[in-house]
Amino acid sequence: MEEQIRLAAFNWLKEQVTLHGDILPRSLLVNGFHYNGERVTLIGPQGIWKPKIFHKIPISIATVCDGPYDDSLADDGSFIYRYRGTDPFHRDNVGLREAMKKQIPLIYFFGIVPSKYLAVWPVYIVNDNPNTLSFTVVADDMASIQEHLLKPATGIVSNESEYAIRRYITSSVKERLHQKSFRERVLLAYRQQCAFCRLKHAQLLDAAHIIPDGEELGDPIVTNGLSLCKIHHAAYDTNIIGVTPDYRIEVREDILYESDGPMLKHGIQALQSTRIILPRDKNAWPDKERLSIKYSRFLQTG
Ligand SMILES: [Zn+2]
Repeated sequence: MEEQIRLAAFNWLKEQVTLHGDILPRSLLVNGFHYNGERVTLIGPQGIWKPKIFHKIPISIATVCDGPYDDSLADDGSFIYRYRGTDPFHRDNVGLREAMKKQIPLIYFFGIVPSKYLAVWPVYIVNDNPNTLSFTVVADDMASIQEHLLKPATGIVSNESEYAIRRYITSSVKERLHQKSFRERVLLAYRQQCAFCRLKHAQLLDAAHIIPDGEELGDPIVTNGLSLCKIHHAAYDTNIIGVTPDYRIEVREDILYESDGPMLKHGIQALQSTRIILPRDKNAWPDKERLSIKYSRFLQTG
């Protein structure tokens, strides 16, 4: 029975991601869904959550992430999840230990910005570390469900190839987390609008890197980001539009005097010499050194 509800929860989450995108609002998860007339909630006030309908084993774990390099991201291809409190026998910790013994798949909600989560499932508890009051968690794919949910428990993953698969999936989850968290933090800093044209539809906004990802100063931090609509993101990346280190917009000269339709006129040329919209928090303003490197590239293309 509980197995079926877990599967229903995974399916429901999948639908929500289709509807809302990867980042889900907390309110949606608090309300959950109905299973045979009973409400199944997916997240609770504490990190470890067991809906009423379940006997003992939780359905999800959640963390709040307040930076790009959260300490829950261990280097060895796994996540570290802290016990609730310091008592290893608190019922929440006991519940997770039980999930480990029976290899029950869980959902991991990563808090990206306040009240918004990236959901990852299935995840498994693979180790209990009483010395550090934590569990080791890995992500897996839905193909593993068949094996671990519908068959009697066989314990921890036994062969090396399965271990390698989990390590691979877990590291791609980490990659996604970094990207999503960069996007959400940049959009939040700019109050969900394009820094060039004020367009406010999140579906049309990106977090643009000032210095591209992979370069020395290309860190996924807010001061290396600009919240830009799709067209302005592409125009900034390709040096059609530049931003001076004192936050002024410049349009490449040949484009500034080109004659074309309303998109060019109102969407690009009209930006010439205007000031970009900046975050309220000065600490989140674009880094002048990065802006200056990027601006010199813009000048070279002109
Ligand atoms: Zn724009």
